Amino acid sequence: MKIDDDVRIRLKEKFEEFIKSKRMRQTPERFAILDKALDQHVHFDIDELYRDIEKEYRVCRATVYNTVELLCECNILRKHYLNENQAAYELADDRHLHLICMSCGSVREVRDEKFNQYFEQLKFKQFKPTFVSTNIYGICSQCSRKNHKDLN
Ligand SMILES: [Zn+2]
Ligand SMILES: [Zn+2]
Repeated sequence: MKIDDDVRIRLKEKFEEFIKSKRMRQTPERFAILDKALDQHVHFDIDELYRDIEKEYRVCRATVYNTVELLCECNILRKHYLNENQAAYELADDRHLHLICMSCGSVREVRDEKFNQYFEQLKFKQFKPTFVSTNIYGICSQCSRKNHKDLN
């Protein structure tokens, strides 16, 4: 993810407040994990993040996992299930749809204003939505070209 320094600072402050409100300890590891999470490409998984952090810090995988869950809870990161293997995380501040290829597993992000507007005006009884995760499954153009070639 390409993140501006001021956004990074704002997110750190947000996380700091959140940890305080939970009466948890402000450990340097937690903030290092946030920093590294912000350096990942979109849709990273816990193992990728852990491998990256491991190079510089002595933390166990459970700490990484728990911190990422906290970051989701405080609405900095968002968890998606893009495939059946593992949850993927991304920055929470952007609303988009995921186009997922069932053949190669590639994920493309698309933004659709009409969809956003539709979502904004949805109302539910006794339920306040926080975010919407929309995965659209299909075949990407590369795979469909390859399939086409294989058939001929
Ligand atoms: Zn594909
Ligand atoms: Zn995404």
